[in-house]
Amino acid sequence: MRGSDFSQLFRGALGANLAWEASHPCPCGGADGTSDEVCLRCEGRGLTHDPPSAPFRGALTGLTARALEALSQRFGPGMVGDATASVPFEALCWASIRSGDRLIALDAREVLAWTLTPGRSIHLPWGAVLREATVMGTGGAIQTVPLPVSDVEGRIRVVVPTVLRLEAPRRYEVVRDLAQVRAFGTHLPRKVLLRLLDLSAR
Ligand SMILES: [Zn+2]
Repeated sequence: MRGSDFSQLFRGALGANLAWEASHPCPCGGADGTSDEVCLRCEGRGLTHDPPSAPFRGALTGLTARALEALSQRFGPGMVGDATASVPFEALCWASIRSGDRLIALDAREVLAWTLTPGRSIHLPWGAVLREATVMGTGGAIQTVPLPVSDVEGRIRVVVPTVLRLEAPRRYEVVRDLAQVRAFGTHLPRKVLLRLLDLSAR
C-alpha cells in the first residue's frame, strides 16, 4: 500500500479525528532532567505543550495482550503504552511527533472527577466541559453547588473542597516512535506508541 492509500483508509470508518500537542522542555527544568515540583507552568512534569493542532484523520488501535507482551519484551515493562496511533504523511506532526507530545482523540470523550482543595487552582484541560460541582454538606450529605468560574488566568479556585465532574476528549501521551521497516514505499503513516493520560491525577 502507498501512503495515499492509508490516508484514504483513515478518512473512512477505520479512522479517528486526532489533534497533536507538541511538547517543549519547561524553563524550570535543569540540565539533569529534573523539574520544579511546584512549577505552575508544567505542574512538575518538566514539559509544556502547545495548544492542539488542527484536527487530522489518523487511526487509533488498542493493544492486544499479545502485542503488549511482544512490546514489553522489546522495550521492557513500564515502557509500553495502551494504544498505538498511525499518523498519515499529510498530518502536520508526521515529521516531528516524538515522545512527550500528546495526541487528543477528539471523538472519544470521557468523564473525569477531580477533587479540588482550597489553596490549589487548576486549569481545565483543553476541550473540557464542566458538568457538575459537589461539596460535602453537613452530616456528610453530597450537595450540588453552582459551577465555579475561572479567573482571568483561566484557573479555577474553590473555598471548600469540591468535586468537579467534567467531560473532556481522551488524551494520550506519546511514549515512543515505533519505527517501521518501510521496504515498499515512502510517505507511509508513522506509528507511535501511546499511554492514556490520567487527567484526574494532576
Ligand atoms: Zn516547569
